Amino acid sequence: MAEELKQLKLFSDVTAMLAPAKSLYEAGCCPCCLLRFLGEKDSQIYQKSAEELQAVALTLCSQPQGDVADGPTDSKCVNTDDIPCIACLGILQHGCSEEFLEKIQKKINEEGYKSQLFSLSLMTPIQLIVREHAVMLFLRQRFSDLYTGQSIEKVTSMKDVYKWRCGPRLKDKLNMEYHHQIESPFLIQLMFEHKETETECSFLISACPKVFPSNSSRKRKRDSEQGVLNRTSVARAISSLSESKFMSLVRCPPEKVDTMCRCEEITCYHEAVFVAGRYNKYSRTLSQTPWVVDGERRGKTSVSELICTRIQAMFMAQEYRFSSAGREDVDVRTLGRGRPFLVELIQPHVSDVPIDKMKLLQQEINSGTTDIAVRDLQVVSREESGKLKVGETEKTKSYSALVRVEKTIQPDDLKFLEEIKDLKLAQKTPIRVIHRRPLASRDRVIHNMSGEYIDSHHFTLHLKTQAGTYIKEFVHGDFGRTQPSLSTLMHMDTDILELDVESVDVDWPKTIDE
Ligand SMILES: [Zn+2]
Repeated sequence: MAEELKQLKLFSDVTAMLAPAKSLYEAGCCPCCLLRFLGEKDSQIYQKSAEELQAVALTLCSQPQGDVADGPTDSKCVNTDDIPCIACLGILQHGCSEEFLEKIQKKINEEGYKSQLFSLSLMTPIQLIVREHAVMLFLRQRFSDLYTGQSIEKVTSMKDVYKWRCGPRLKDKLNMEYHHQIESPFLIQLMFEHKETETECSFLISACPKVFPSNSSRKRKRDSEQGVLNRTSVARAISSLSESKFMSLVRCPPEKVDTMCRCEEITCYHEAVFVAGRYNKYSRTLSQTPWVVDGERRGKTSVSELICTRIQAMFMAQEYRFSSAGREDVDVRTLGRGRPFLVELIQPHVSDVPIDKMKLLQQEINSGTTDIAVRDLQVVSREESGKLKVGETEKTKSYSALVRVEKTIQPDDLKFLEEIKDLKLAQKTPIRVIHRRPLASRDRVIHNMSGEYIDSHHFTLHLKTQAGTYIKEFVHGDFGRTQPSLSTLMHMDTDILELDVESVDVDWPKTIDE
């Protein structure tokens, strides 16, 4: 026996499989489909070149066969790669060609996708389900001793063969990693179509009334026919038919066709990438997110835009979503180590940004403005990104507020503030946000406070509170809507002139060495 046949592992020993091999070949199977239906499961075999596979197929078909009357295959039976295979309609032929892989490569380069790893996904025309079933029934009928008990599920799938053949070659072209079993966040989806799909499947509609109940009120239109024929319904219809019924409706093996499948759409998807960091806000005139009142933009920019525009550009993302651990008002600064934030980048084209590039990106953001600054900028996993919102109400925040008091005060008048620990507040929705938040009352805790005397009418109030405490309202009382307030504690009118967030006590994201 020829050397190349010794490595094959088929449903039965190679000698026994020579007859089905010849029949499949003559019926019009391409070398890959021939090997699939003979039971070959070894990915290495399918990674041979088209010429090598063609040689294996020819050798199989031209072996002298003891108990089969037919002679060796003559030259007119040679299936060239431009005759569409009856089982894959060319997906394992032209679909695996160098020319087509170059088309994929071009598309990905043009769109600028850069990823460490890629995955392949195939969408194939549904008549391939009908055709594969027809090939299997043909084999079971003709070679019952070899194929009894075999089913299409035991045949290596066309998609696996496609990925084995094309994955490693695309890997070299794209300069990205590829592993058959590992799903990548970057997916290349190939949509193969065939113009005869409907013609080849529509017989199922009348043959399987249980799967496709007829619409009595109006004649089934072409459009609705397309609608009901899908992967699930076709598979269900086929399994509802007996073998003999199916064989009376479809030629087994299936007929040859003139045209191959075409891949009209190469679509790339990349899962969202998450970038986290902390920001300081030094401006008292900058909103956190774009500020729009009655459809009109206020302020030229915002914290989120100053941070995200450059990040979006670096990752070539279609869009972004910004979120943070709480937020500050337009006139509030955020100092200290800043406020944790997260940017979700939707459909990024670049996902592989090393830490030194992230540092450069951070420098770029910071050198572009004096209103904000960013630190600890880093890519985080989706899982890690969820930590931003975990335990939000248990987090603590520290503030300093410049307070003006109505009556004259002495430094000693502020001492009592330090005695107050874990003061419980009941805060009704502040008047200033009542237009955008539901009317409610929330309980919050001020863990501790202290006063730093400035002059007889001013002092700085330092406080550490539970996240979500309305600080401004605590200071001025919000017309009694916050109880107690600094005003009730000091028995005088108190007003807040400036507020700074000193720290957001969240240990996330991790600190990056500058
Ligand atoms: Zn094929």
